[in-house]
Amino acid sequence: MLIILNPAATTEQIESLNHTVRNMGFLPHVIAGTDRTAIAVVGDTKKLDESYITRLDGVDSTQPTSQPYKLVSRDVKPQTTVVDLGTARVGDGSLCVIAGPCSVETRKQVLATARHVKKCGAHALRGGAFKPRTSPYEFQGLREQALELLAEARAETGLPIVTEVKDTETLPLVARYADVLQIGARNMQNYSLLERVGDLRLPVMLKRGLSSTLKEWLMAAEYIVARGNNNVILCERGIRTFETETRNTLDLGIIPLLRERTHLPVIVDPSHGTGYASGVTPLARAAAAVGVDGVMVEVHPEPAKALSDGPQALTFSMFETMMRDMRRISGLMGQAI
Ligand code: PEP
Ligand code: MN
Repeated sequence: MLIILNPAATTEQIESLNHTVRNMGFLPHVIAGTDRTAIAVVGDTKKLDESYITRLDGVDSTQPTSQPYKLVSRDVKPQTTVVDLGTARVGDGSLCVIAGPCSVETRKQVLATARHVKKCGAHALRGGAFKPRTSPYEFQGLREQALELLAEARAETGLPIVTEVKDTETLPLVARYADVLQIGARNMQNYSLLERVGDLRLPVMLKRGLSSTLKEWLMAAEYIVARGNNNVILCERGIRTFETETRNTLDLGIIPLLRERTHLPVIVDPSHGTGYASGVTPLARAAAAVGVDGVMVEVHPEPAKALSDGPQALTFSMFETMMRDMRRISGLMGQAI
């Protein structure tokens, strides 16, 4: 249930309402919007006495929340959440471009890529340090050494770092370096990891699970926000379908619906969404035309030599072309880039 506050409600009244809600055995979450403040009451609210709540000081009205996800629902907060990455913002109406290698492999590789994507206008650098690979025999990432290299690239270029956290054991280490914690598709329903990142205030990029529905994805995001971390970005990265020629099927059809259902910012990853380099720029353009808060793509100086995801990596010149195209589409859409 949503308690809509009177625009004139005082801090004391809000505190007292929170107290009342807690005493009734529910969890209150204050959601401050630009033109209204609301308290989302989470729990089995069927037992709540609505008429009693409506009579309390500072309350304007109550509203049931129709979806199983509450705090991430657009019902609760009409404005899109803006996630601050330090030098860039996701969800403020602009198009944020995140680019970099699938995995950090060498100092030379990550620094050259960071410099190039920065020069072309990217807003953040991606790079995997801990890689969740399908096979245990494949490259697992340079781990802490990779985090140090990413930090060096950040110090030089000013680009904030997006890197994946694979498990709760390595979370404290990854959180010391990352500006955005990426939760990979394979971990979307790793609830203990979701809760632990929910306890932090670092931005989290939650990728859609390999075969997750919109509802499952938003419920996973709810785990993070329910622990108090509102800085969640959703990333559509393709889902499993019957098609085997592409790595995944990029589900752009979900984007307008996500926009209606959630206030969380949404980005698209056409690299994992297609699995082949020549498909990345066309799908990045399509994502920008559908209307997203950002795109994330993989870029490598020598894709043929990449230790992971080489077939889908853009070369430097392909990335330059992609950025030129993104500027054209975002211009058409009236979106800053
Ligand atoms: C990645 O971003 O390199 C990655 C492993 O992504 P996903 O979790 O979407 O497969
Ligand atoms: Mn990858």
